Amino acid sequence: MNNLQSMLNDIEKEVRLTRHLIGKDALNHRVIAAIKQVPRHEFLPDDYRFLAYDNGPAPIDCGQTISQPYIVALMTDLLNTQATDTILEIGTGSGYQAAVLSRLVKQVYSLEIIEPLATQARQRLKKLAYNNVTVRHGDGHFGWPEQAPFDGVIVTAAAPFIPPTLIEQLRAGARLVIPVGLPYSYQELLVLEKKADGEIKTQTIMGVSFVPLTGGKASTHKT
Ligand code: SAH
Repeated sequence: MNNLQSMLNDIEKEVRLTRHLIGKDALNHRVIAAIKQVPRHEFLPDDYRFLAYDNGPAPIDCGQTISQPYIVALMTDLLNTQATDTILEIGTGSGYQAAVLSRLVKQVYSLEIIEPLATQARQRLKKLAYNNVTVRHGDGHFGWPEQAPFDGVIVTAAAPFIPPTLIEQLRAGARLVIPVGLPYSYQELLVLEKKADGEIKTQTIMGVSFVPLTGGKASTHKT
């Protein structure tokens, strides 16, 4: 069975293999240190704990998945966080990505559309004392207006289009990291940066595969 160190080695190897896509040989050492601190096995259902330190996605409850560790590390790196940041995550799932972020920033807000997953993740994060993560059951298409603007937004489910509200809720200089594409089809990991003058700079990183971002019916009428 793999352990945390072999997972970290696998992440490092995959970063090197994809250096031409991500433009560097190694991720920020703060990100790697954060991954090192979070016990991934605590975020998996008992039946799948044996997969905890493999560098792959794994099933969680309600037909959803915990993302591949390399992808969690990469997306966290792409967010470019500072210790004083407030970050919004869309798609709490197991709570693992939120826990990793919580080691790097001041406060994490995380939205999950499936209520039992939101409840489970909230209890898990509380038990493990990740006290700077707040989980809410809700549709991420609408962001979290009461806590906006954010220093970064990370979406861990793929949308066919970028929900405009999430761009609105970015502070100037902040980034949105999001997989965009059709369900179970080609998706691309994008990084958007909101410039001080409101202009949006977009960078395409690589092809990825995420579960679909659901909900959002009302937002398609609003925009
Ligand atoms: N970040 C998670 C990965 C979860 S998979 C982790 O670390 O485990 C993506 C999650 O996004 C699923 O739990 C899914 O239910 C949730 N999701 C899908 N559409 C959503 C939406 N519109 N708002 C909030 N969560 C959503």
